[in-house]
Amino acid sequence: MGFKPANNIQDLQYFGEFGGVNPSISDSSTYTFLEAKTMFDTFEGNTDGCYLYSRHTSPSNLYLGEALAAMEGTETANVTASGMGAITPTIMQVCGAGDHLVSSRTIYGGTYAFLKNFTPRMNIATSFVDITKLDAVEAAIQESTKMIYCETVSNPLLEVADIKGLAKLAKKYNLMLVVDNTFSPLSISPAQLGADIVIHSLTKFINGSSDTMGGVMCGSAEFINAQKSVIDGASMLLGSSMDSLRSASILKNMRTLHIRMKQHSKNAMYLATKFEEDGVKTVYPGLASHPSHEIFKSMMNAEYGYGGMLTIDAGSLEKANALMELMQDKNLGYLAVSLGFYKTLFSAPGTSTSSEIPEEEQKEMGLTDGLIRFSIGLDNDIERTYAMMKQCMIAVGVLKEELSL
Ligand code: PLP
Repeated sequence: MGFKPANNIQDLQYFGEFGGVNPSISDSSTYTFLEAKTMFDTFEGNTDGCYLYSRHTSPSNLYLGEALAAMEGTETANVTASGMGAITPTIMQVCGAGDHLVSSRTIYGGTYAFLKNFTPRMNIATSFVDITKLDAVEAAIQESTKMIYCETVSNPLLEVADIKGLAKLAKKYNLMLVVDNTFSPLSISPAQLGADIVIHSLTKFINGSSDTMGGVMCGSAEFINAQKSVIDGASMLLGSSMDSLRSASILKNMRTLHIRMKQHSKNAMYLATKFEEDGVKTVYPGLASHPSHEIFKSMMNAEYGYGGMLTIDAGSLEKANALMELMQDKNLGYLAVSLGFYKTLFSAPGTSTSSEIPEEEQKEMGLTDGLIRFSIGLDNDIERTYAMMKQCMIAVGVLKEELSL
């Protein structure tokens, strides 16, 4: 039968306080107790169903966390104020002074900057490797290694991690495998393939409206409870908790995620195929030419497709900029960072979301000046979009005009 993440979300049943079809929003930062002893017991973590203070948790946050845990098939989840608000406490909960991580070298620029520039202050070291080479990952593991960190589909190069292979390594060396699944919600379920923790930036596809920040860490009850500990939990003490009003709105948007992902994937597959046929250098996991196409295929929940992210190489930064400006002018999308919106979003990662990565290292990992990252939108008429994009590519010299016979 396979794993059915959208069914798992749909099968949850909630009611509001007055029989509403949506759960009531917990519009409170603090909660009363009838008896002082219950408050004490709640602090100690010994009461179920009691709420203390919304930085710890709130009913609305638990509802959203439950839906995300159902989607990823983990015991539970903890929602946070942003994707980085999930990534940083996950790393800091697991790694302390003297510890080491092995990380993919192509990851979101903010995560890269955190591991490269920030955690060394706490004497936490990271080896950045080509995550698609399992032998390179294994060779980087040291005595002090605690974690393997990667993105299922990496930002911005769309490299695909072999999660089963990485999980085997993690098991062999008793490490935690942490996977950021922001680019491939529903399509890939990393926890089903052996990941210990699955992270999302909810800011992207899962919310899908580009109107809020959000994040989540999905994992075992033991790990999530440790994160929320009032004594030494990184999430609780670093304070990146989500606000209840936001979690209520993300939960409502999440119910249409399966429909949106199918459309994002369908449109991206169509455009990637056409761009490649036209001779534009195109990277999309759904193309047979993608080096990890078969691995993606072997891991995916097929009905959701290969996702909404693709890249093209426009040849130079000048051409990339001209193309993006023209496409925005023609209302084909927005020149903006982020992803998962109903409109197509495009940016040149080398000068935006990955600018934290030094130029030399960008070159080494194949991040070229002319690279444009597209988050393909929900366009109803993708054939029309393609025809217009092609005209833009011809106008700025990314494509040559076809000679009509
Ligand atoms: N992970 C990935 C793959 C991302 O692309 C981003 C943001 O672009 C993040 C994490 C960080 O998420 P947020 O911006 O919600 O903190």
